[in-house]
Amino acid sequence: MKKRLKTVYFWVMKEYFTTIGLEVHAELNTKTGMFCACKNDPDEKRPNWNVCPVCMAHPGALPVINKKAVENVIKVGLAVGGTIADFTEFDRKNYFYPDIPKAYQISQYKYPIVSGGEVAGVKLTRIHLEEDTATSTHDKGDYSLVDFNRSGVPLMELVTEPVIHSSKEAGNFGRELQLLLRCLDVSEANMEKGQMRVELNISVSDDPEKFGTKVEVKNINSFRAVERAAEYEIKRMTELLEEGRGNEIVQETRGWDENKQSTFSQRSKENAQDYRYFPDPDLPKLVLSEAFDVPKLEAGLPELPEAKRIRFAEQFGIKDEDIESYIVDIELGAWFEKIAGILKNKDAIKNASNYIT
Ligand code: ADP
Ligand code: ZN
Ligand code: MG
Repeated sequence: MKKRLKTVYFWVMKEYFTTIGLEVHAELNTKTGMFCACKNDPDEKRPNWNVCPVCMAHPGALPVINKKAVENVIKVGLAVGGTIADFTEFDRKNYFYPDIPKAYQISQYKYPIVSGGEVAGVKLTRIHLEEDTATSTHDKGDYSLVDFNRSGVPLMELVTEPVIHSSKEAGNFGRELQLLLRCLDVSEANMEKGQMRVELNISVSDDPEKFGTKVEVKNINSFRAVERAAEYEIKRMTELLEEGRGNEIVQETRGWDENKQSTFSQRSKENAQDYRYFPDPDLPKLVLSEAFDVPKLEAGLPELPEAKRIRFAEQFGIKDEDIESYIVDIELGAWFEKIAGILKNKDAIKNASNYIT
């Protein structure tokens, strides 16, 4: 009798490697604009109320650097353990769009204020300063509206190295950065209000030695959405690679659709050359060690979230969830500490913490 061979087919899915780098913009909570004396008020509802010739780009109007905005970025740089540049300058990033009537945004290119540093175990590339753009509204009918209140608001941009490997890590990084910015009191960093905006750069590769083609996802309004967008892209790109359609992954900018919980193609990505960056001749170069007392700024930094977590655990022995409530709500944490100082007894402190939280 012939032996019948049973053949078992099985599919071995290859291993795929995800790489993520984030670009985060945060509006600084300075009193005035980046280059003008207009009030910086994110809650102003009257359109085109906080505007002047500088932030409306009238010809001949001259910008003046907001020293407090530079100081805030230096503080962030010190808090993340980055290198504060000695020399720094502002550049013109040229592009045409109704929300930027000068036809360039004042930003920084070659000499960012901060290089390196780390947040939540994620290495940073740089932190620089620029001006926010106006806001356009396109859904009113057959015309668009532009509101210049936001134009010229100081905007910090932080770029991470491509060293994040999961959606969860990306979300955590964003949450930790938000805590840090709030702790330093440099930005409200509210994602829903657009005061903190996260752009997700993501690629998937079947070769651990090589990065895959990167796409950039914009319009992300929450940390949850950062995670969901990353998961969506990982699935989309992995499936394309798995089906041998890797060539359909193109370098592009995609948008996040919160209703559909999916990303969609917006435009192919421009290169740095397209912006023709050059130093803004209207602004002075800065030597930060001369313009600021950097060691004094460093000495004046508040206790940072991670340090506070460790101290609260050691000093009070309270639950991690309790500690997290005090990290998120700085005032509540200070109040708890005051009570703990009166109580002294560890059990009493734990009870008080239960009661407070
Ligand atoms: P671009 O010139 O397209 O803006 P950058 O080199 O400035 O690209 O990087 C922008 C962001 O994309 C950074 O956060 C970086 O870490 C991230 N990044 C770069 N290459 C990749 C990649 N292959 N996959 C995922 N993220 C990447
Ligand atoms: Zn102005
Ligand atoms: Mg870039």
